[in-house]
Amino acid sequence: YLGAPDRTVDSVCPYCGVGCQLTYEIKNDKIVSVSGRNGPANENRLCVKGRFGFDYVNNPQRLTKPMIRKEGVPKVPHEFIDPSNPWTHFREATWEEALDRAAGGLKTIRDRDGSDALAGFGSAKGSNEEAYLFQKLVRTGFGTNNVDHCTRLCHASSVSALLEGVGSAAVSATFNEVKNSEVIIVIGANPTENHPVAATYFKQAAKRGSKLVIMDPRGTAMKRHAWKMMQFKNGTDVAMLNAMLNVIVTEKLYDEQYIQTYVEGFAAWKENVKDFTPEEMAPICGIDADTLREVARAYARAESAIIFWGMGVSQHTHGTDNARCLIALALITGQIGRPGTGLHPLRGQNNVQGASDAGLIPMFFPDYKSVENPEIRAQYESAWGVKLPPKRGKTVVEIMDAIHAGEIKGMYIEGENPAMSDPDLNHARQALADLEHLVVQDLFLTETAVYADVVLPASGWPEKDGTVTNTNRQVQMGRAAVPLPGDARQDLWIIQDIANRLGCGWNYKHVGEVFTEMASLMPALANITWERVERQHAVTYPVDGPDVPGRDVVFDAGFPRPGGFAKLVATKLQPPDEVPDHDYPFILSTGRQLEHWHTGSMTRRTKVLDAIEPTAIAQLSRGTIEKLGIEPGDMVRVSTRRGEVELQARQDDAVPDGVVFIPFAYVEAAANLLTNPKLDPFGKIPEFKFCAAKVEAV
Ligand code: SF4
Repeated sequence: YLGAPDRTVDSVCPYCGVGCQLTYEIKNDKIVSVSGRNGPANENRLCVKGRFGFDYVNNPQRLTKPMIRKEGVPKVPHEFIDPSNPWTHFREATWEEALDRAAGGLKTIRDRDGSDALAGFGSAKGSNEEAYLFQKLVRTGFGTNNVDHCTRLCHASSVSALLEGVGSAAVSATFNEVKNSEVIIVIGANPTENHPVAATYFKQAAKRGSKLVIMDPRGTAMKRHAWKMMQFKNGTDVAMLNAMLNVIVTEKLYDEQYIQTYVEGFAAWKENVKDFTPEEMAPICGIDADTLREVARAYARAESAIIFWGMGVSQHTHGTDNARCLIALALITGQIGRPGTGLHPLRGQNNVQGASDAGLIPMFFPDYKSVENPEIRAQYESAWGVKLPPKRGKTVVEIMDAIHAGEIKGMYIEGENPAMSDPDLNHARQALADLEHLVVQDLFLTETAVYADVVLPASGWPEKDGTVTNTNRQVQMGRAAVPLPGDARQDLWIIQDIANRLGCGWNYKHVGEVFTEMASLMPALANITWERVERQHAVTYPVDGPDVPGRDVVFDAGFPRPGGFAKLVATKLQPPDEVPDHDYPFILSTGRQLEHWHTGSMTRRTKVLDAIEPTAIAQLSRGTIEKLGIEPGDMVRVSTRRGEVELQARQDDAVPDGVVFIPFAYVEAAANLLTNPKLDPFGKIPEFKFCAAKVEAV
C-alpha cells in the first residue's frame, strides 16, 4: 500500500475504443489507483482494465535507455530475449548516437534503393498528434505512402464498405443512442469482454425494454439479456444477413420514400437478394427460417433500430461483404440518421478511430482524402511544402510480403508489435528478421523489438499530453500524470528528431501546435481546437460551431457522397479461404479476452490483470473436450498448416463443437503462428476469424 494520493490528473483509459475518462490518483509521482470520471462514454464507469491496468508503466522491464544492436549479433526468427536483460543482444547508446543510427540507416536505404524501399507502422495506442506526425514523416521524409497501423487488422473491411456505401468511415451514431433504440443488433462482437462499459449501456437498454438481438457464432455473456440469440455457423454472415434482406424485400418492409430520397442502386441490388430465401439460407447459416423472418421483421418495423458490429464481422476474406449487408439493412429500412438508429462498428483500440482519421493509412491523407487524387495531393504538397508520392502505399500484410520479395528493406515501427499481431507469424517474423534496418520505438523490448537495429525508449500513455478519438467520434484529452522513467522520451519529439535527420526541418514546440496543424487540414475537426478539448475534456465531431455540442447522430439529411445518395452494393456467398478437411477438421477463431489487451505487451506486465488471467488458453466446448478424451485444464496442441502451439484447454460452452477459440495475447502460445494471412480484397484485412485447425491431446 503506497498511501493516500498527493495529487490527481484527469485523463482517458489507454485500452479499448470506448474511451472511458478516468482520474489517475498519484503519490510520489507513481499512480496508486484509478477512478472513473463522468465522461460522455462512461459516466464514471470503468472495467477491470481501466481500473487496474495502469502499473505497466512502472514495470521493471521498461526501457529507459536507447539501445543499439551489438556488432555481429544475428537476427534469428522466434529468438527469445529476456526483456529484463537485453544486454546479450544490445548495447546502451546516447540519444544522439541512437537517433543518428536510426535515421542514418533509413536515409541510406531511401537514397540508395528509393523511397518505396522504406515503410512505417505507427500505432493506435498513441495520440492523434503522434499519428499525424508519424504519417507526415513517412510521406514527406521517407517519400512513400507505405504507412499503416493496426486498423488493417481490425476494421479495415468495415471502413472500405462504409466509405463506399455512405461516404464516411466513422460511426453514424454514438453507442449511447441505444437509449432511444427499439431494436439493437450486436453482431460479431463480444462487448462484455472487449467493450465492457459500452456493454453496460446495451444491458440497460435491454432492461428498459429494447429488443436486443445477439448474432455470433460464439455464445456471449450478453445473450442473457437478449431477446434473440442467433448463434450462426462461423463464416456464414453473408448468408444470414442476405436472408434477412430477402425477407424485407419480399414482404415490402423497406422504406420506399427513404430509398427514393437518399439511396441509389436499389433496383439492381434488389434482384440480387431474391436468391437468398430464408429456407435456402437456413441450412447454410444454421438459423431457422422462422427466426430469420421474425428478426428481419422486428428490425424493419421498429421505430428505431441500430446495428453494432465487431471483428467477428470484419476479420474475414469476405469482411467487406459482411459490412455491405449491414449497411444495406440500415439503408433500405431508413434505420439511419435519426435518434436510436444507425451503423456503429465498435472500434477496438482507444485511438484507432483517431489514428485512421489522422492519415495513418496507406491510401489516404488525413480526413480520408485519397493520395491518388492530384487535386488533393496538390493541397497537401502546398501545406507540407514537399512533392508527395502519387500512388497508394502497401498495407500491413503487404509490407511483410514486400520484405520477403526484397522490395522493402527498412522500417520504423512505433508502438506496434507485428511479431505478435500479424497473421502467419513464421512469415512475419522472418520478414522482420530479414530487414536490413529496423527502428523500434516502444515501452518494452517487445517481440518485434528483438529484431531491431535501434531501440528507442518511448512514453507510456500516462506520461504524455495528447488527444485521442474514441469509437463515438469523441476527441478527448489525455494528460501527462507521471514523469518518464530514466532517459525515455516523448514519442512526438522522437518522431520529430528522426524527421529532422531526414531533412524535414520541423520545429514543433508544443503538442497543441501539432493538433492545430492537423485540424487545419481536416474539415471533420472544424470548430475543435486544442484549447476547447482541454477545457471541455471531450468534443464530438462533427460540431457546427465553437460553442455548441457535437452531433451524436449524423446523416439526418443525406450522405457525404455525390448527390447526397448512399449506395447499395450486392454481395454473393463466398466460403472462407481455408475450410476444415480430413487433416485439419476444426475451425480456429482468434480474438481478445477481458483482461488482456491485444498482444499483451502492457496488460501482461500489469500485476492485477496478469494475476487474473496468467495462462495461455484454448477455449473448447464440453463436447470437444470429451471427444478429445481430456479434462479441462489439460494441455492441447493446436496446429494449422502454418504452425502449432501448446496451451491449456478451457471448457467454454459458448464455443460450438468443432471450433477452437484462442486469445492472441500470449507469446508462449502465440495464436498468430496459426492464422491465415489471406486478405479481404477490399479492406486488405486477414481472415483471423476462420482457418482449418487440428486439436490434439498432448
Ligand atoms: Fe478502458 Fe474500454 Fe474498459 Fe473503458 S471499457 S475502462 S475504455 S478498457
